[in-house]
Amino acid sequence: MVGHMRVGILALQGAFREHAQTLGRLGVETRLVRRPAELEEIEALVIPGGESTTIGRLLFEFSLVDKLLAKAKEGLPVFGTCAGMVLMAREIEGIEQRTLGLMDITVRRNAFGRQVESFEADLQIPVLGDKPFRGVFIRAPFVTRVGAGVEVLAEFEGKPVLVRQGKLLACAFHPELTNDLRLHRYFLEEVAKA
Ligand code: GLN
Repeated sequence: MVGHMRVGILALQGAFREHAQTLGRLGVETRLVRRPAELEEIEALVIPGGESTTIGRLLFEFSLVDKLLAKAKEGLPVFGTCAGMVLMAREIEGIEQRTLGLMDITVRRNAFGRQVESFEADLQIPVLGDKPFRGVFIRAPFVTRVGAGVEVLAEFEGKPVLVRQGKLLACAFHPELTNDLRLHRYFLEEVAKA
């Protein structure tokens, strides 16, 4: 149990149900977010994986961007996974694609190349302890530049795949597709309460 907290999950497209299940197992209340007003009712937000171009387009169409940026500025903790990481990045390498620009990072989309579009790998994530974390990578991005205020919490083959900037956390893989609750717990207990 991580204590009482209401966590929103952006539910425009992608793996939002899986995040809701994972967070439910941690005993927190979840709320699917599709409208600006719903951002007022939550104490943290998860942006799931999926297709960043689609989620990004719907964010603008559903008029969620201004409110989301305002809440983040007020200190709303945000955890982005895969496409969520892409949307949180300030820049995407080589592409003009609108993002939320919350984190001072540059990402490369579909960065692990065609032959290995999807794979799993054991990751060492020191903030989660010694036991490796199974990283499920699905057409995943990686980070190619980190700004001064950004901590790299895990790398895979020398590429940052888990980064933190204050109350913002982003990973290139899909923790909601494993039974390992440690990264969601870390977000709620350490990042959100920082
Ligand atoms: N390749 C996708 C994108 O850039 C992300 C894939 C995912 O979220 N699993 O939008």
